Amino acid sequence: MSRHQPFVIRGGLVATPGDEAVRHADILVMDGVIAEIGAPGFEVSDGVAEMDASDRLIIPGLVNAHTHSHLAIAKGVSRSWTLELHLHNGPWTGGGQRFEDRYLLAQASAAEMLLKGCTACYDLVLELPAPTPEGMFATAAGFADAGMRAVIAPMMADRTFWRAIPGLRNALPKELRATVDSITLATKDVSLAACERMLEDWPFDRSVVRPALAPTIPLHCSDDFWTGCRDLAEKHGVGMQAHLAESKVQAVAGAASYGRSLTAHLDSLGVLGSHFTAAHGVWLDRHDLDILARRGACVAHNPSSNFRLGSGIADVPAMRSAGICVGIGSDACSCSDHQNLFETMRLASYLSRTASHEPNDWLTPRDVFGMATRGSARALGLQDVTGDIRPGLAADLVLLDLASVNFTPLNDALYQLVFAEEGRSVDRVMVGGRVVVEGGELVTIDYPELRRKLNNRAKAIFEANAPRKAALAALEPFVKQYCIGLAQGHRQVDIGGLGDE
Ligand SMILES: [Zn+2]
Repeated sequence: MSRHQPFVIRGGLVATPGDEAVRHADILVMDGVIAEIGAPGFEVSDGVAEMDASDRLIIPGLVNAHTHSHLAIAKGVSRSWTLELHLHNGPWTGGGQRFEDRYLLAQASAAEMLLKGCTACYDLVLELPAPTPEGMFATAAGFADAGMRAVIAPMMADRTFWRAIPGLRNALPKELRATVDSITLATKDVSLAACERMLEDWPFDRSVVRPALAPTIPLHCSDDFWTGCRDLAEKHGVGMQAHLAESKVQAVAGAASYGRSLTAHLDSLGVLGSHFTAAHGVWLDRHDLDILARRGACVAHNPSSNFRLGSGIADVPAMRSAGICVGIGSDACSCSDHQNLFETMRLASYLSRTASHEPNDWLTPRDVFGMATRGSARALGLQDVTGDIRPGLAADLVLLDLASVNFTPLNDALYQLVFAEEGRSVDRVMVGGRVVVEGGELVTIDYPELRRKLNNRAKAIFEANAPRKAALAALEPFVKQYCIGLAQGHRQVDIGGLGDE
C-alpha cells in the first residue's frame, strides 16, 4: 500500500499507556495519522487497505528520551569508568568524526532503535570545538532518511571537563597538563551564533526531526552561556536538555561552586521550564524535585547508563509523586552499549524495587511502559505527535509477534512486554504510517552496507585517536583519584579553581 493510502490494521491486541488492560481493536490510519480505534471488524469505507495484525501485540512506538548518536561508534569501548572517567576519555571515544560520520552514526542509532521498537529519540550531539549547522544537519538527515523521529540538540560547553570540576586541572601533574590544555572549546558567542544559524536554517520537516539546545552539564557552561541558551531557546520556541546531577561529583562540585544545588542554580538563571528536560537527576534532593515540578520540567531517566557508570539510583518514584513527568532514555552506546528501550524499561522497574520494601512503591510494568511512551514523548515536546495510540496522533506503531518465545505462553501481555521482551519479537514498525521495519528487518536502511561502513570508520577513527587515548590514559589515575576524593568527601572543593589556573 502506498504511504498515503488509508489502511486499517485488523486483528491485533492493542496496548496503550492509558488503558487498564490490553484489548482487541482495529486501528484506522489516514495520511499517517491514527483516525479511529474501534471494535474488531468495524466498518471502513471503500478504498481502505487492510493490514493483518493477527497474533500481534500493537504498542505505540517507544520513545528514547536521552541518547547521543555520535557515540554509537563506541559500543564496548568503555572500561570500568565512572562518569568522570567517561568524560575524561571522551576526546578519543567520541572525537575525530567528520560530517559524513555524523550521518552514518545517526543511521546506526536509528537502525538499532527502530529494530528494537523505538520510533523517536532526543539526541544530544557533541562537536568540538563548537557545534556547526552542517554537523547537526548531517545527524538530522541520518534520522530523516531512516524515517525515524528525532529531536537533535547540539551538546555544548564553554569549559572543558578538566576545568569544570573545580581544582581538577591544577591537581594534575604539571608535565602532563599539556594534554588537557590542548583541548579547547569555542567561546559561548561562537557556539550560540552557530546555534542561531542552525535554528534559522533548519531544512527538515520539524514534525519528523526538529532542533533543540543542550548546554551539556551545569558546571561545564558559564552562567552567561546558560542565559544565552535560555534566550535562544525562547526566541525560537525550541526545547532544552541538559545532564543534571548525574554523578555525586557533579552534585558536590556544584553545591560548593554555586553555594546552592545545581537545580537551584539553573532555576536562578531562569533556565527551567516546561521546555526543559533534565537527564539523569540521580543526585537531586526533595527541594530540587519541588523546583523541577514547579517549573513543569521533565526528567529523562537512564537506568542502564546509571548502572554502567556506577552513578547511583535516581529516585524515580519520588520524582513521579512530586508531579514531575519522567521519560526513559538509553543514554549513549559509550556508557550503556545499547539503545534498547525494552532493556531500560525493565531496569527502571527492577531498580525501583531496591529502594523500598513496600511493593506499592515499586514501578509497575504499566508505570514504565507509560514512561517510555507518553513520558518520553512529553520530554521530547512531541506529546501531540507520538507516544500513545489515539486518534490525532501519528501512526507510530510497533507490532510484536505473539508467537515469540517471550510471549509464550501468553498470560499477561503487558507484564511480558516489560519483563520478558528484549526486542526479538519486533516484527513491524511504522513511523507516521510508513513501514520502516518489516519482518524484523530494516526497510529504509541497507544494513549490510551500513555495517561495512561502520566497521571501517570505527577502525579508522580509533586508530587516528590512539595517540590521544594514550595521552589521556597517562592522566587517568590522577583524575580518578581526585574525583573519588570529591565523591567520598575526602577532598574539599577548590572553588577558586573553577575554570582557571
Ligand atoms: Zn548523556
